[in-house]
Amino acid sequence: MTTERESTPQRRPGGRPRFYSRRKVCQPCVDKKELDYKDVDYIKKFLSERYMIEARRKSGMCAKCQRSLAKAVKKARHLALLPFSPAQKGALPVHYRPRS
Ligand SMILES: [Zn+2]
Repeated sequence: MTTERESTPQRRPGGRPRFYSRRKVCQPCVDKKELDYKDVDYIKKFLSERYMIEARRKSGMCAKCQRSLAKAVKKARHLALLPFSPAQKGALPVHYRPRS
């Protein structure tokens, strides 16, 4: 079993699985995209279904991107490109997915 050395941590037989947190990557960094307040569709990906900015520990974003996201979202809200809350007229849940 020594030949099996993969980068993906797997449960070893007979041993407790090592502490393993799924590595989250910063999506804007991966996409090499600037978070722009005009790019509403892209920004929406980082909002919860209640149009709140997703927490960094949830989205896995880096500090830099999280900052620019917050700025972009607030700007977009001010310009009425994004709603403040789902209660607003015309606002639909961004990624409303019933949990299955
Ligand atoms: Zn980033």
